[in-house]
Amino acid sequence: MEYANVIVDISHEKVDRPFQYRIPESMRDKIDIGSPVTIPFGRGNNIRKGYVVGLTDEAQWDKDKIKEIASLADDTVSAEDLSMKLAAWMKRHYGSTMIAALRTVLPAGKKQNRQVHKYVSLRISERDAREYYYECVRKKQTARERILKELLDNPGDRIPYELVTGKLNVTSATLKSLSDKGIIKIESEEYFRNPVAATTERYGRKTLSPEQQTIVDSVVRDYDEGKRETYLIHGITGSGKTEVYIALIDEIVKKGKQAIVLIPEIALTYQTLMRFYRHFGDRVSVMNSTLSPGEKFDQMERARTGDIDIIIGPRSALFTPFPNTGIIIIDEEHETTYKSETMPKYHARETAIELARLVPDGACVVLGSATPSLEAYYKASSGEYKLFELTQRLTGGTLPTVEVADLREELRKGNRSIFSMRLQELLEDRLNKGEQSMLFINRRGLAGFVSCRSCGHVFKCPHCDVSLSEHRGGRLVCHYCGYEEPVKKICPKCGSKFVSSFRAGTQQIEDEVKKFWPNARVLRMDADTTRTKGSYEKILSSFANKEADVLVGTQMIVKGHDFPNVTLVGILAADMSLYASDYRASERTFQLLTQAAGRAGRGELAGNVVIQSYQPDHYSILTAAKQDYKKFYEEEIAYRDILRYPPISHMMSVQIQSKDENEGMELSNRLRALMEQQKLPGAVFIGPALAAIGRINDIYRMAVYVKVDDYDGLILLKDVVEKYIDDLRKEGGLKTVSVQFDFDPVHGF
Ligand code: ADP
Ligand code: ZN
Ligand code: ZN
Repeated sequence: MEYANVIVDISHEKVDRPFQYRIPESMRDKIDIGSPVTIPFGRGNNIRKGYVVGLTDEAQWDKDKIKEIASLADDTVSAEDLSMKLAAWMKRHYGSTMIAALRTVLPAGKKQNRQVHKYVSLRISERDAREYYYECVRKKQTARERILKELLDNPGDRIPYELVTGKLNVTSATLKSLSDKGIIKIESEEYFRNPVAATTERYGRKTLSPEQQTIVDSVVRDYDEGKRETYLIHGITGSGKTEVYIALIDEIVKKGKQAIVLIPEIALTYQTLMRFYRHFGDRVSVMNSTLSPGEKFDQMERARTGDIDIIIGPRSALFTPFPNTGIIIIDEEHETTYKSETMPKYHARETAIELARLVPDGACVVLGSATPSLEAYYKASSGEYKLFELTQRLTGGTLPTVEVADLREELRKGNRSIFSMRLQELLEDRLNKGEQSMLFINRRGLAGFVSCRSCGHVFKCPHCDVSLSEHRGGRLVCHYCGYEEPVKKICPKCGSKFVSSFRAGTQQIEDEVKKFWPNARVLRMDADTTRTKGSYEKILSSFANKEADVLVGTQMIVKGHDFPNVTLVGILAADMSLYASDYRASERTFQLLTQAAGRAGRGELAGNVVIQSYQPDHYSILTAAKQDYKKFYEEEIAYRDILRYPPISHMMSVQIQSKDENEGMELSNRLRALMEQQKLPGAVFIGPALAAIGRINDIYRMAVYVKVDDYDGLILLKDVVEKYIDDLRKEGGLKTVSVQFDFDPVHGF
C-alpha cells in the first residue's frame, strides 16, 4: 500500500479525522494498522507521533501535496501504544473499522475540573446514633434508617457519598437534612489525603479457608515465577470468591501493579462495592453507566496518573489506562453483558486475555462463576486455563430444597392457573408466616416459540435443533437456516389441541397473586417498572426492608442480591429460555435456574424452590434442580460437539440489515457464495435466514452463519467479506445496507 491514514491526536473525539501520508518504499512491508509512526505535522512540519489507522492505494487529494512518514516510531510501550495494539487486535478478531475499535478502547468524555470526592460519616456518638436510629424505625423513615444502620454497623467508617446516594438510595436532600441536624458529617477528599493505611489496618483480610488459600498461593506463586496464566474459579455463590479476589488484588497491588475488576453492572451492589472500599480505601474507584462523561473521564485520569490502583466496573472498565496492570478479574464470567452488542462485538473475557498479554509485564486473568460459561469450562478442562473449585458455602445457610412441578400434569388435573398446586401451597404458607417470596418469570428468548401445553412437545428445526419461532402469517421459522413450516393446530405428538405460544408476563403474575391473596403486598420489577433512574434500586431496597411480601420479576431479580428473609422462590415457566432460537438456550436456562434457586434460604431460615416446567426431564432443568454443574456441562458439551457449535467449533454470523428485503437477501446470498468460494476446509454454511426479529423500524434483518473449527479461518472469511463490501461502497453501492460481524455470538440476532 502506498498511503497510510494517520491520526495524531489520540482522543476519543478526534479518531475519525486521520491525515494521509505517503509510506516510503523502505517501510512498506513493515507498516501495519496500529503502527506508531513519526510524521511532519502542520505548517511548521514539527515532527509528531501518530498511529496508522488505515492503509490504501488511493490518494485522498493532490498526490504531490501528500507528505511522507518520517519514521517508524520506536517500540516504546506507552498507554497509547497499548490502546492502539488492543484496538488493532479487536478490529482483526471481531471485524470493525479501526476507528470504531479505537472509540471502544479510548476513554470518552471531556476533561473537567477534578471533582472532589465526598464521604459520609457519623458526627454523634454511637449511643446517640442508635437512639436516633430507633426513632427513624418507629417513624418509618426508611431512608434514614438505612444510612444509620450502615454507619452503625461499621462504626468509624466513612462511606463514599456516591454509594450512599446511588446504591443505598438515600437522596441528597435527606443527607443534607441529617447533616444540618448535626447527625452526620459530609466531607470532601481534601480533608483526607491518604486514609488508605488506616483503612486496610482496620479491615485486615479474613483468614482464608484452606480452599481459598490454595488458590491465592498458586496464583501468586505463578506470578512470582513470571508465569501469566488464566484461572477459572468455579464456586457457588457464597463460597468465598470475592474474598479470594480481594486477597489476590492485595498481593498484586503490593508489587506496584494495578488491578481491573469486572462485575456485571447489575451485580455492582452496595455490599460488594463496600467490601472493596473497606479493603482498599481511596485506592479503588468504581465505573458505571450512571457516571457522567466528565466523571468517567475523571476516573480514567485518576487511573492514568496513579491516583488509584483498582477499578471496578462493567465491561468497559477493561479499558482503564493503568500504567501497569497486573491482574484482571472477571466475576460472573458467564454473563452475556460481557459481550458487546455494537461493533466491534468483542467479548470482555477474550479481550482481557489479549490485554493481559499486551501489558508491559503481562497480567494474570482470574475468571469466577458459579455456572461457568461452556467456553471457560471447556478451556479449563483442556488445561488452557487453570481450574480451581470452591465447594463450601462460608456463610452457613443451608442449600434450599428444590422441587420440579410438571405443568403438563397440572393441566391434566385441571389446574389452569399460572401457579402449580405445590407453589400455591407454599406461597400461602409463607404469607401466613410473614416470610418473603420471589416469583421469577423467565422471559429470555421469548421470541414466540410454540409448544404443546399438554405434552410439552416443542416445534424445532429438523436441521439445527433450535426452536422454530412463530411469525405472522402462521409460519414457524428457523432463524439459523430459514427452514419453515406452517403452524399446526394439533400437536403431532399427542394430538392435543393445546398448542400455543406462551405469553404470560410479570403483570399477569402480579394480578394472579392478588386474585388468590388480595392482602398480599406485591412488588413488580421488570423493564416497565425500572424505566426511571433509581427505580431499580428503590424496588430492591424496599423489598429488602420488607415493605412487600412477594417480589415478582424477570431475570433482573435473580442477580447478586441477598434477601435473608426470602424462603421461597418460584420459577414460573422455567423452560421458556430453553426454546430461545439459538444454540445457547440450554446454557442460559441452566444459569438462570441455578441463580434463581440460589436466592432462597440465604439467611437462617431454610428455603424452598419450585421450578415449574413443561419439560421436567430436560437435562437443563434436572441438573439445575440438583445444582449439578458438571453433569450439565457433560450433556451440553456433547450437544455442541454433535452440531459443531462453539466452544467445540467457532461460528461467525454475518448480519445484514437492509431497507429493501430483496436487496438484502440478494447480498446475503452473494456473501455466502463468496465465502464458499474460499474453499475453507471443514467450513459449514447456514442461511441466509431472517433474524429472530426479522424487521425493526422497517429495516430487514438477516444473517448468514459459518461454522469452522479454526478461528483464523473465520477471520479470513471476514476479511474477504469486508474487502468485498468496501469495494462495493467505493463504487457507490450499498447505500442502504449495513453488514456486521458477530463471532461466537452470545446474543440472538
Ligand atoms: P462469593 O463471591 O463466592 O459469593 P464471598 O466472597 O462473597 O463469596 O463470600 C461469601 C460470604 O462468606 C461473605 O459474607 C464473606 O464475608 C464470607 N467469607 C468469605 N471468605 C471467608 C473466610 N475465609 N472466612 C470467613 N468468612 C468468609
Ligand atoms: Zn402434545
Ligand atoms: Zn434450521
